[in-house]
Amino acid sequence: YFRTDKLPHIWCPGCGNGIIMGAVVRAIDNLKLNQDKVCIVSGIGCSSRATGYLNFNTLHTTHGRALAFATGIKMANPDLKVIVLTGDGDCSAIGGNHFIHAARRNIDITTIVFNNNIYGMTSGQYSPMTPKGAYATTAPYGNIDRSFDLCKLAEAAGATYVARGTVYHVPQLIKLIEKAINHDGFSVIDAVAICPTYFGRKNKMGSPVAMMENIRDLSVTVKTAAKLSSQELSGKIVIGEFYEESAPEYTKEYAKVIEKAQGGTKNE
Ligand code: SF4
Repeated sequence: YFRTDKLPHIWCPGCGNGIIMGAVVRAIDNLKLNQDKVCIVSGIGCSSRATGYLNFNTLHTTHGRALAFATGIKMANPDLKVIVLTGDGDCSAIGGNHFIHAARRNIDITTIVFNNNIYGMTSGQYSPMTPKGAYATTAPYGNIDRSFDLCKLAEAAGATYVARGTVYHVPQLIKLIEKAINHDGFSVIDAVAICPTYFGRKNKMGSPVAMMENIRDLSVTVKTAAKLSSQELSGKIVIGEFYEESAPEYTKEYAKVIEKAQGGTKNE
């Protein structure tokens, strides 16, 4: 599954990206997917480097545009399993528009967001998912922007499978990714990760191990979260499945339009 000629990888020691990439590969292996029928697309950023290490049909695209490329790939090859690997900035800032419209269309693409709350590759600028009050290269006095809850955004925009996992809870993350890949429609996994080099250092979070323990300590399940007040939930990471719906998938709807066009049944 890996491009050994591209290894060793260039991620920093303790980075969470490799854990998510490993979870994606394990999910694909568990599902026994035909390697030639999987296409993995990424944008730009530390996370998006993952496609360089994977031995599938891969495409490393431009900043924020992975979903636009992936949409074209899926439209032209509806039988392919298309998976997008993207970072929190790549997905929710530069690519925010593509994200909401891919969700709205319910196109059968699985989007896995490597969410480490910061732009790592460009040296630690705050992203739309940097928590309010956190420090970043571009927020030396603390970030004053409110952050997105990506799962709520995805659900509101029309995604039909939405879940969150973390790099601490790997077996669960693999299961969530498996379910997302099997889902017929637009699926989103918010994969909470760590960037020790920038987010960790800027916020004095200690070693990568301490950052992982922090994720462990802050995580609550969807079931537990339902019993907590919004005050009690503040700063917590809610993990598990948020939303699942069976709804018409875009490429199948498009195929029906083509059939109508070929049959000359235009509504005039
Ligand atoms: Fe990972 Fe951060 Fe290093 Fe990028 S800068 S490789 S996200 S630790």
